[in-house]
Amino acid sequence: MNPQGFVDTVRHNFIVGNWKMHTTAAEATQLAKAIANGMGVMSGKDRVSVAVCPPFPYLALVGEILKGSCVALGAQNLYPEKEGAFTGEVSPTMLRDLGCIYVILGHSERRHKLGESDAFINQKVRVALTAGLDVILCVGETSDQRKANQTEAVLDRQLVQGLVDVPAEVLTRVTIAYEPVWAIGASGHEATPQQVQDAHSLIRRRFARMYGEKSAQAVVIQYGGSVKPENAASMLTANGVDGALIGGASLHADQFLAIVRAGIVEAQTKGKSA
Ligand code: PEP
Repeated sequence: MNPQGFVDTVRHNFIVGNWKMHTTAAEATQLAKAIANGMGVMSGKDRVSVAVCPPFPYLALVGEILKGSCVALGAQNLYPEKEGAFTGEVSPTMLRDLGCIYVILGHSERRHKLGESDAFINQKVRVALTAGLDVILCVGETSDQRKANQTEAVLDRQLVQGLVDVPAEVLTRVTIAYEPVWAIGASGHEATPQQVQDAHSLIRRRFARMYGEKSAQAVVIQYGGSVKPENAASMLTANGVDGALIGGASLHADQFLAIVRAGIVEAQTKGKSA
């Protein structure tokens, strides 16, 4: 049993690169090739799952490069309808058609810069799962919310409302990414492994209340927020952390691969495999 009272379970480490609105076609090509090649020669790669989420315009391009590699393709968003008059939007069916396995939903940049509500994110989660996409649902408090001791309430709300009508049977296709907003990006403050561990424990406890302890032990919870090669080992070994969602460092193949390596070492230590 771990200090949070959960029976230890063997979950896998899942490392995902979120390229956000970065790269040109040429840069995306180079980055995808370098990651696929680097993964190809990496020992222990069977111990982690790895995916990259390029911008929409480069999904097909990157998907072609990743074919036959052990790196999966993911998208950064979708619109929760199959098709229709939704100018400028991208459907889950289109993402599946392009070879996407995963979709990131509820990212804090979409919540806070684009005003996405928990209800809208929930709609996306349900539609994505129905369409056959696996979901990476991001949750996390702002700096003000943390200072006001609202972290638990915010995480609870984002989880409960984000997963409305998501049945326990599909939870193996849902990954949670804990991403404190204050720790994200170039201006983010690095979280301590203790803060990360505490938040992951809150999330797992909420999960236990929603879906039972067995599901809570099984759910993969990534950490995201300024994860870099230098801090990857300490973040990934924090209790309850199952890999990482990476922004900035995922734009550099050497840095991304170094974080994957840290994930492999952690998996080896804990006897995890993908
Ligand atoms: C993110 O935005 O998902 C993220 C974790 O970014 P960064 O790694 O740059 O903090």
